[in-house]
Amino acid sequence: MRQKTIENYKLFRKLIDNSYSGIYLLNESFEIIYRRLLTEELGVVEASSKQKHSIKTLTHPDDLEKVIALLSEIIKSPGNSSACVFRSKNHTGDFIWLRCTFSNMLNDPEVNAIVCNFLDINKDKLEHENITKSENFIRTITDNLPALIAYWNADLVCMFANKPYLEWFEMAAGKMIGINKLELLGQKEFDLHRAHIEEVLNGIPQRFERTFYKPTGDKLFTLTQYLPDEHAGVIKGFYSLIYDVTEVKKLEILLNKATKLARMGSWEFILKDNSMFWSDSAKEIHEVEPDFQPTMETCIDFYKDGKDRELIKAKIKSLIEYGEPFNEDLRILTFNGNYKWIRVIGESEFVNFKCARAYGSFQDINTQKISEIETLKAYEEKNIILESIGDAFFAVDRNWIISYWNKTSENVFFKNRDEVLGRNLWEILSDDVGSKSYNEYHRALETNRASHFEDYYILFNKWYEISAYPSTSGLSVYLKDVTIRKLSDLKLKSLNDSLQIKSRALAMSNAELEQFAFVASHDLQEPLRMVASFMTLLDQKYGNLLDAKGKQYIQFAVDGAKRMRNIILDLLDFSRIGRTSENNEDVDVTHIIEDILVLFRKQIDEQNAQIIFKCLPIIKSAKVQVRQVFQNLIGNALKYQQNFTQPKIEVSAEDIGVHWKFAIKDNGIGIDPEHFEKIFTIFQRLHNHTEYTGTGMGLAITKKIVESLGGDIWVHSSEGEGSTFYFTISK
Ligand code: ADP
Repeated sequence: MRQKTIENYKLFRKLIDNSYSGIYLLNESFEIIYRRLLTEELGVVEASSKQKHSIKTLTHPDDLEKVIALLSEIIKSPGNSSACVFRSKNHTGDFIWLRCTFSNMLNDPEVNAIVCNFLDINKDKLEHENITKSENFIRTITDNLPALIAYWNADLVCMFANKPYLEWFEMAAGKMIGINKLELLGQKEFDLHRAHIEEVLNGIPQRFERTFYKPTGDKLFTLTQYLPDEHAGVIKGFYSLIYDVTEVKKLEILLNKATKLARMGSWEFILKDNSMFWSDSAKEIHEVEPDFQPTMETCIDFYKDGKDRELIKAKIKSLIEYGEPFNEDLRILTFNGNYKWIRVIGESEFVNFKCARAYGSFQDINTQKISEIETLKAYEEKNIILESIGDAFFAVDRNWIISYWNKTSENVFFKNRDEVLGRNLWEILSDDVGSKSYNEYHRALETNRASHFEDYYILFNKWYEISAYPSTSGLSVYLKDVTIRKLSDLKLKSLNDSLQIKSRALAMSNAELEQFAFVASHDLQEPLRMVASFMTLLDQKYGNLLDAKGKQYIQFAVDGAKRMRNIILDLLDFSRIGRTSENNEDVDVTHIIEDILVLFRKQIDEQNAQIIFKCLPIIKSAKVQVRQVFQNLIGNALKYQQNFTQPKIEVSAEDIGVHWKFAIKDNGIGIDPEHFEKIFTIFQRLHNHTEYTGTGMGLAITKKIVESLGGDIWVHSSEGEGSTFYFTISK
């Protein structure tokens, strides 16, 4: 019997040694009464431990309930066994996964225990957990990617499909996995994909675009990629990745439109094979045919010979050699022979410190550039003007910050441009705060109306004529130095004032003089008349008592009195001119002459004088005075004649614009030009009264009348050749 028991025990040991990782024997209270560990690394608990362990203390709290329930069940029916997987503490205190079979052998007198055979499944369990985790990870990622992802095996059976894929085909995962691609797509769609499928199964990755229309009519752009799944030279299947590129595509279309609108084209230069690529727009810009094949050399040759070409060469060189990007505005001569401004941009891509690719864009900026150049030119011209004008000019923004300050401003305000630009005007001209200019500038800016005014700068002792022009950006101010004008204005004013005083005094003394002449000539007449009348009485009463000499003396005295009377009368006339105002009226000069001829009839007849006049005008003037002028001049023409010569007198008129010009030409004795001035002065005579009678007042009176009628008088003559007197009368 003992032998049998020993044999049984050996068998039992063998069994458990080969089948399990370890064994516990539990008593009814689930305390471990025996333990046997078969693998050291398992080390569930130390074999040597004397401490009594309970299954309850070793089991993971989360699994304890399950294990106790199972044990409680087992304990009810002897011979029963049951298995479960749970976590148990090992010798380091960590929990490890065990698969354990509990067998109730309490009734077996040889065992009298609950036998726990357990296997260490920690590794498997963790591996499984990791796999599940990584599967979940992949699924989570793929489900949330904005792409349709699937895996098809070489028989075109779906092995994997992410959530977007399932949603796209409106199919549940269960139905999708295992479906054949032909079945999924249908024959028509499958045929469209056939070539790509064949290629990918040959190991060639595929990339193609498809356009779909949504039921709403919206266009949907997709990009599909088939990536072969290759293991040891065998294609096991392929990954299908479908992206919704609608947004990108729309942007691309928009970009195309925009580049077209912006007249922009792209270029690319691959250094490996020296190949150059131009987009269609780039070709349009260069005005070449669509099939034009550019090279780097032909590309450079398009640039304007000289500065532009040299610059692009240098830029390309440093782009390729050092990766220095560029952005230049240059001129090209297009294929059709047009000069054009383009903006050329260059960038590069370096691989292993060597430029592999250069690329960039061309933009047709001809119109903008030309207007930019013109604006710049206009600005420069304006600048030159503003700089060269003698006036000071400055500009401020709406916050009084100085943005422009020309050269003259520097001189006017003794402030250099550098120290004022960007600074507040009232900081610079702090003394002017509150001045007239200060107020006017503020008013101009507030009312948006230009202001023109004059201001005196005490500090510089200068007068300025100032114009302040408001605009949306601020205020432009011009200052013209008018100090000289202002001073001469002031001088002129004081001169005028003193002139007025003088002319008033002159007028007064003139008036007094005229008054005197009038009174004197008037009062002199009376005693003169007495002399003449008493002389006549003397001659009448005592004439017979006087000898011839005495009679001659009386004759002289009477004659002298007569002449004096004439002089006094002439003086009286002279003093009257200009004092009596006569209204202008229509004066027919022909009638005037005719009247005068009547007056001089006796003389004319005696001398057999010839008076010629025709086409004389009707003028608007003072009749009596005009008549006096003609009478004096014709009278002189008749008087100053050689004896025995037939006087010939011509009166003519000429319209000379604002005046009438009259001429009285005679064939008389003439006048030496040296006396031309003298004869117009009162009492100036060239002859004594025995030769030619007269008072020497006639021409002075005539001159005074002509001048009072707004005209002038002068004479052309030479001795013995006759004279022509000219005078003008304003119309
Ligand atoms: P009066 O005739 O009374 O001497 P006037 O003032 O008329 O004074 O003339 C001044 C002088 O001008 C005259 O004395 C005369 O010598 C000269 N004179 C004027 N008219 C003529 C003329 N038509 N021809 C020559 N001499 C003239």
